Amino acid sequence: MQQIKRTTVKTLLAEPDKFIGKEVDVKGWVRTRRGNKNVAFIALNDGTTIKNVQIVVDFSKMPEESLKDVTTGASLHVQGEAVASQGKGQSIEIQAAEIEVYGKADPAEYPLQKKGHSLEFLREIAHLRPRTNTFGAVLRIRHALAFAVHKFFNDKGFYYFHTPLITASDCEGAGAQFQVTTLPLDQLPLGEDGKPDYSKDFFGKMASLTVSGQLEGELGATALGCIYTFGPTFRAENSNTPRHLSEFWMIEPEMAFYEIEENMDLAEEFIKYCISYALENCRDDIEFLAEHFDKELVERLNFVINNDFVRLPYTEGVRILEESGKKFEFPVYWGVDLASEHERYLVEEHFKKPVILTDYPKEIKAFYMKLNDDGKTVRAMDVLFPKIGEIIGGSQREEDYGKLRQRMADQGLEGMDWYLDTRKFGSVPHSGFGLGFERLILFVTGMQNIRDVIPFPRYPNNCEF
Ligand code: ATP
Ligand code: MN
Repeated sequence: MQQIKRTTVKTLLAEPDKFIGKEVDVKGWVRTRRGNKNVAFIALNDGTTIKNVQIVVDFSKMPEESLKDVTTGASLHVQGEAVASQGKGQSIEIQAAEIEVYGKADPAEYPLQKKGHSLEFLREIAHLRPRTNTFGAVLRIRHALAFAVHKFFNDKGFYYFHTPLITASDCEGAGAQFQVTTLPLDQLPLGEDGKPDYSKDFFGKMASLTVSGQLEGELGATALGCIYTFGPTFRAENSNTPRHLSEFWMIEPEMAFYEIEENMDLAEEFIKYCISYALENCRDDIEFLAEHFDKELVERLNFVINNDFVRLPYTEGVRILEESGKKFEFPVYWGVDLASEHERYLVEEHFKKPVILTDYPKEIKAFYMKLNDDGKTVRAMDVLFPKIGEIIGGSQREEDYGKLRQRMADQGLEGMDWYLDTRKFGSVPHSGFGLGFERLILFVTGMQNIRDVIPFPRYPNNCEF
């Protein structure tokens, strides 16, 4: 082949006039092949965009026999002249002069032959599903959203702060952690009490994978001002729902000197920014997903961007639910931890808008949330979204040393003096929240199941690839 610089399909389709009449070089995978006895049309995709470029092979110039390995999934290197296309839906195509097959894909074995495989089937071949239009679109949107997250915070002067993945503290005080150990499980060293002797473990104490970077994030915020984390998070909750993963990515901004109102403002601005960024930068992918999975997707995204979120105290929310006359599966009363059906009623049926629910009973929220003057509620804020339910959980943090120490003692939390030191030395009002990255992607892509918005999902009984 000649020495011609490779052009990506995205570049080619973005500026066809620059290429028409010139020799081009493209590389990619065959999506489909069709034609007749004189000519073949190959749809080539290189992952840079959802769109394919059409390769036209004239059998009077290139023998049909030379295309015997050009089947769905095979990888090609193509050179030829870019010409204006007659076909509808495309502006440019390539008249092939030379085709090299990099790698064959035996049609008898390659699983992605037909279009329209079910998402369940694709989950079983998650190692290949990025090659489908659907997952290509989702993964490009995922990338764009990750980039938007960093851009949003960087532009605001927040610092990206790396919190540890292996930790010896349990942020939420719940037992949903994966333990990290190098102790031989079939021959555990036991202490005098008959329990495992963790002083012999790798870290000299019991350690786990993090369920949240918040506590360490607070150490960053009370030094750098405003920080955010963005990293993997692990929860061993055995919840087989379409909204939970065992390994997911969380974004956790933490801001010194922010009160709860500023925290809510930031959360709302942040989500709207990310959605707008995706709409501006992933138009083709979003439109593809809208067409195939969710006709109201673009409308819903625009609606969220263009409307204020409702801000509602928990107590009011419970009253609305009680007066709704609706039969819920789980009972509603003041003090209950709201179930997904309750959250969705408020968002989808009552307000028909995203809702930020605030001031929850202290009993159902974490120890570090700031107590209100009523002594009963804490300055929590959960952002509830249509179709998703909770997308963000956050709060203003308790900055009073005595009150925080008391709450920790009440809950039997020990050995966290390092955390209390933030309140002991130069304590400040501060706030933060956690956004589940995959829940944001669910919303932006219109996908139904969180397992379909991360390349290799981890969930109970599944750790493939
Ligand atoms: P939920 O009630 O939905 O289980 P949570 O209250 O346990 O969530 P938080 O501890 O507040 O969640 O975590 C902050 C955010 O992280 C949540 O608002 C959600 O977006 C996301 N998140 C929590 N757990 C998971 C999970 N298992 N998989 C994916 N995202 C999650
Ligand atoms: Mn929460």
